[in-house]
Amino acid sequence: MDKPRLVRRVTVKTERTLVFRSHSSLRTEWCAECEAEVGMMSVDGAAQESGMSEMAIYKLLEARVLHFSEDAEGHCLVCLNSLQR
Ligand SMILES: [Zn+2]
Repeated sequence: MDKPRLVRRVTVKTERTLVFRSHSSLRTEWCAECEAEVGMMSVDGAAQESGMSEMAIYKLLEARVLHFSEDAEGHCLVCLNSLQR
């Protein structure tokens, strides 16, 4: 019974994030894991957004808990969809 409510709250948070964060660190990219276009952020941006350390983000990336893609410069972009799960 708790699950649908949780999903809705996450959605609201995502929208708010997209509204307030119009910086270059946030962009819309294709996530192969989600099979959808999702908001992606640099690791430092994702760390700020989630309140975790960058090291914690890297560990979650390594454990494949978080999705990521690489931009043209080889920077790691974190899938916000997986971050907010
Ligand atoms: Zn994803």
